[in-house]
Amino acid sequence: MEIVVCVKQVPGTSEVEVDPVTGVLKRDGVDSKMNPYDLFALETALRIKKENNATLKTITMGPPQAKKVISESFSMGVDEGAIVSDRKFGGADVLATAYTLAQGIKKIGNPDLIICGKQTTDGDTAQVGPEIAEYLNIPHVTNVTKIIEVGEKSIVVETDLPTTLEVCEISYPCLLTVEKDIFQPRLPSFKLKMETKDKEIPMITLKDMDDTDEKHYGLNGSATQVIRIFPPEPNTDKDIVRGNSDELTETLFNKIVDLKIL
Ligand SMILES: Cc1cc2nc3c(=O)[nH]c(=O)nc-3n(C[C@H](O)[C@H](O)[C@H](O)COP(=O)(O)OP(=O)(O)OC[C@H]3O[C@@H](n4cnc5c(N)ncnc54)[C@H](O)[C@@H]3O)c2cc1C
Repeated sequence: MEIVVCVKQVPGTSEVEVDPVTGVLKRDGVDSKMNPYDLFALETALRIKKENNATLKTITMGPPQAKKVISESFSMGVDEGAIVSDRKFGGADVLATAYTLAQGIKKIGNPDLIICGKQTTDGDTAQVGPEIAEYLNIPHVTNVTKIIEVGEKSIVVETDLPTTLEVCEISYPCLLTVEKDIFQPRLPSFKLKMETKDKEIPMITLKDMDDTDEKHYGLNGSATQVIRIFPPEPNTDKDIVRGNSDELTETLFNKIVDLKIL
């Protein structure tokens, strides 16, 4: 069995600047960490690996420094990892990111199971996992809260839908996105960190892909583009209303009507 986990490097701080001209996040030189949700995906994969003698690989897409999350995954017990990185991949929206990752996954193996975090803490769309599955033409289940059974040909999972819990059996190859708290993520092992510190992390660039058409990647391959990113303007207007409950009710009601909320 072969498992691939997608891990993303995200800013470790909320002090991230936005390029005023391009509207793109300035990620260079910003303190970074592994997307916290991906730690749950990794833990899930590490447990499945142990019980099924599987091979586990991680993949990330990002600037060269994103390799750090792959090294971190080695110190948790991952066997191999790769980074998908090229200037031509820059400015990718969700669609282009998922396409690039799907192409990258094809280059690192033929996984039975792909596991993603539920979402990231920066982009936060929760769309990359399902879109990778669509591009690879494989089934997927999102918001997985429990792994019930790992079979030879399929996996049985519990998924948390807004009003119900659903149990699904899904055939390999397939993709899961996992909820936080599915398992308690382990801490990196110092011993493994030392053992894997020189482990090679191949870089997959545009020329390595099956599809080398620049139009499908980065800004060119993005269906959407950020026109402007700006912090919301703080609203400091305040009105303090005093009185008994009848007076307060009437004042608030009149305000709501004046503001045309009702
Ligand atoms: C309209 C639009 C325009 C954008 N333009 C830019 C831009 O110009 N420049 C820019 O830097 N960003 C840009 N972004 C952000 C960038 O597209 C997202 O960071 C990227 O698509 C991943 O989406 P997400 O963070 O919402 O991932 P989610 O869908 O929330 O992530 C779910 C899971 O997918 C996996 N995953 C997601 N991203 C990666 C990754 N890179 N590597 C490995 N695994 C991953 C992880 O397992 C993660 O837990 C843009 C986003 C949008 C919506």
